Amino acid sequence: AGFFTKVKRGIYGTTVLSLATFAYYVHEANNPPDQLPQDPSKKTIVVLGSGWAATSMLEHIDTTNYNVIVISPADYFLFTPLLPSVTVGTINGRSIAQPTRQLTRYKAREVQVLEAEATKVDAAKKTVTFEDKSEIHGALGTVTIPYDYLVYSVGSAPQTFGIEGVAKHGCFLKELGDAEKIRNRLMDCVESACITGQSEEEVDRLLHTVVVGGGPTGVEFAAELRDFVKDDLAKWYPEIANRVKVTLVEGLPNILPMFSKKLIEYTEHEFEQQEITLLTKHMLRDLDETHVTVKKPDGQDMKIPYGVFVMAAGNGQRPITRDLMGQFPSVQTERRGLSVDEHMRLKGAEDVIFALGDCTATPYAATAQSAAQQGKWLGKRFNQMARVDDLKAQLEGAQKNGQTDQVKTLERMVEKAERIKPFHYSHSGALAYIGHDKAIADLPFMNGGVSVGGVATYLAWRGVYFTVSD
Ligand code: FAD
Repeated sequence: AGFFTKVKRGIYGTTVLSLATFAYYVHEANNPPDQLPQDPSKKTIVVLGSGWAATSMLEHIDTTNYNVIVISPADYFLFTPLLPSVTVGTINGRSIAQPTRQLTRYKAREVQVLEAEATKVDAAKKTVTFEDKSEIHGALGTVTIPYDYLVYSVGSAPQTFGIEGVAKHGCFLKELGDAEKIRNRLMDCVESACITGQSEEEVDRLLHTVVVGGGPTGVEFAAELRDFVKDDLAKWYPEIANRVKVTLVEGLPNILPMFSKKLIEYTEHEFEQQEITLLTKHMLRDLDETHVTVKKPDGQDMKIPYGVFVMAAGNGQRPITRDLMGQFPSVQTERRGLSVDEHMRLKGAEDVIFALGDCTATPYAATAQSAAQQGKWLGKRFNQMARVDDLKAQLEGAQKNGQTDQVKTLERMVEKAERIKPFHYSHSGALAYIGHDKAIADLPFMNGGVSVGGVATYLAWRGVYFTVSD
């Protein structure tokens, strides 16, 4: 009886504790603490973007030391790894977007969050110009503000290889709106295909989705789509479900080049089973309203009819990034993006501009994992820089007052605080969902293994992976 009483007490205790913790979080969410107002005597950090790098930086910076202004056309952080699931409705878009204010409202000092697009950085004048380009905006045109430090983390633009038709007729998979556009377009094609009287040829065209890009984004989207066809369309649209086709086009000899050979072969085999057509060594040449033109390995062009076209072939640079690079022509010469040193300082504007994430040309892969680590590192660096400033002010005071012993101690402390370690990337591996409740993982501790599990396992595992990698 004693044992069971203890067990019962344990269960009650845990339940009460969980409820108390939950109540505490609900209370905290409804009653955010008072914040310090912005202080003109403090340095101003302007942060461009609210993605992986910027959000991680904001999480780790102590805003007691700075005035922080965030400018981003999205007033939320988007958990991009789950974006492919939004295209087929497995996940609701809003559930993977966290309002930026939800984070900044809990910082010690008020953070200004402006839903606007930065249109110009003037590195010489240390100013940023921005504009509210959302559907609803006030009478304000462009606004220019000064900064002491700039955190440049605007991410990348989707790659189009300069093919005009891609921007005109294709879909991308980068923003929340992109995923919703794909979903609408997909369902529109399905509904149109169901209208009786369409020619067989037209039905096949409408039901054909072509994805360009064999990296994790393209692979995961193709896999999610195939699952959707099997799990949902087959039930709701039995008359056309077995005619839906998915083709993945990749210019390289194989998909998922960042994974081991074993995992690539496993995925290719899985795709064959799932009837996803793989066209490797095929190059995108052109896109019109109804056909994709690709160059085959034999050099001949092939026209493929499509209903939905999704471009997931990597990163290009945003115009504002190209403009910033143009301000430092002698040092900003990398085609991939902004050149930074090992302290994430922009070459040419080392003491003032820090650039992070997908807009940079670093040796690390353009991933959420590396962007988040860079953001965390920079937040901590700002905290250390504030400590250096504080110690220097104390040193100046001690020097003025002739406090010789204090001066020596403070000099040593300044010297130590100024030794800031460069950024170090720690790779936690790579994951990709390949459909049919299967995921592949190149994790350091798994030695190139394949993990097979249900979707719930996969989502939970992915959560853990991102917690570990941050
Ligand atoms: P982003 O996160 O893209 O943030 C850029 C921010 O800048 C956004 O808030 C944007 O609104 C804002 N912005 C844009 N233009 C301007 C402007 N002019 N002025 C101000 N702000 C601007 N990586 C992984 O590690 N694992 C994965 O599983 C994974 N899956 C992915 C799935 C998909 C579908 C996609 C698209 C990407 C995935 N990635 C993954 C890659 C990862 O999302 C990126 O590497 C990461 O988002 C880069 O972070 P960032 O902060 O540089 O840019």
